[in-house]
Amino acid sequence: MTSHVMNTYGRLPFALSHGRGCRVWDTDGKQYLDGLGGIAVNTLGHGHPKLVPALQDQVAKLMHCSNYYAAPLQEALAAKLCELSGLQNVFFCSTGLEANEGALKIARKFGHDKGIERPEIIVYEKAFHGRSIATLSATGNPKVQAGFGPLVEGFVRVPLNNLDAVREVARTNPNVVAVFLETIQGEGGIHPTRIEILQGLRQICDQQDWLLMLDEVQCGIGRTGKWFAHQWAGILPDVMPLAKGLGSGVPIGAIVAGPRAASVLQPGNHGTTFGGNPLSMRAGIETLRIMEEDGVMANAAAVGARLHAALAEGLQGLSGVKEIRGQGLMIGIELDRPCGALLGQAADAGLLLSVTADSVIRLVPPLILTAAEADEMAGILVPLVRAFLATPQP
Ligand SMILES: *Cc1c(COP(=O)(O)O)cnc(C)c1O
Repeated sequence: MTSHVMNTYGRLPFALSHGRGCRVWDTDGKQYLDGLGGIAVNTLGHGHPKLVPALQDQVAKLMHCSNYYAAPLQEALAAKLCELSGLQNVFFCSTGLEANEGALKIARKFGHDKGIERPEIIVYEKAFHGRSIATLSATGNPKVQAGFGPLVEGFVRVPLNNLDAVREVARTNPNVVAVFLETIQGEGGIHPTRIEILQGLRQICDQQDWLLMLDEVQCGIGRTGKWFAHQWAGILPDVMPLAKGLGSGVPIGAIVAGPRAASVLQPGNHGTTFGGNPLSMRAGIETLRIMEEDGVMANAAAVGARLHAALAEGLQGLSGVKEIRGQGLMIGIELDRPCGALLGQAADAGLLLSVTADSVIRLVPPLILTAAEADEMAGILVPLVRAFLATPQP
């Protein structure tokens, strides 16, 4: 049958029909344990009994209105995000790349405002920031960029966890205005920026009058056991793009800004039709409220640690397992070989997961995962990985 959907994804041959909690069912009735959460999106799992009625209520009341009017739900969600982050104000959009695109605009205008005509931004090897022309240019993956040149200029790339490289740029490049990185790289293979590196970057940015911009699109919203992953380092960013988990499945993005970045964008500088619509705002407000009410973040920390430990124990001594990384419910298992085939094998065994950076198994399940479900997940995955490593691949 001819498909009328553009062929841009490698898709498995089944369709999901519905879900409940951390379980989903396909159209043939087969059940899966959800280790992927729609790629770190379904914070509260599927069909959450508190979220669903709130969204139904909002759909019936008002889904969309333009940004011509006062926006009390934007005010409420922005205030909550500022309370949780210690930052100052928020611009709402609909996706991660949009949040990052806006952050890049803030950095450039921050530079222009202080007389730097060709502002440049430090970005990282293996970074992923999205697939618009500017964000794919900031991305450190040649596969994402191939075929889409000319790339946007104004990026300087350095290796992760290397402060000397940043200091060297500071010494030689007067046009730099910002450092832009994922607190924990997601698509690049679950690579955390070390705590002392984050603290060092904060210090360099203060000394240089640069913006520290932390892309928490994937690692934010409680996933690591703190509201935002950089909070483990006790620092504040100047700009923090968010998206994925903030709406528990309803598309939403946000740029959260601290005092140095909060008034860079002025009326007329930025905007979006869908951004801040009542439905996505309600989804964000209810997600954060339910997380607080039900202790979801503490659950992510505890169940994440349990899952991590179970995987480490189960995979112990396997030479094909290079490293198990991550924090809370953001876990990457790096193998010594490409393992894309595990996607289908895991699905056959009733587990949804993803493989990123060719050889890293990624688990980013809903943050409501129970201890029993974590044990079940490890119980499916460990023998799969063992069998995979024991079988010579074609
Ligand atoms: C997914 C992701 C993006 C892009 O988000 P989209 O909503 O797909 O545009 C950007 N940055 C990071 C860290 C991501 O994980």
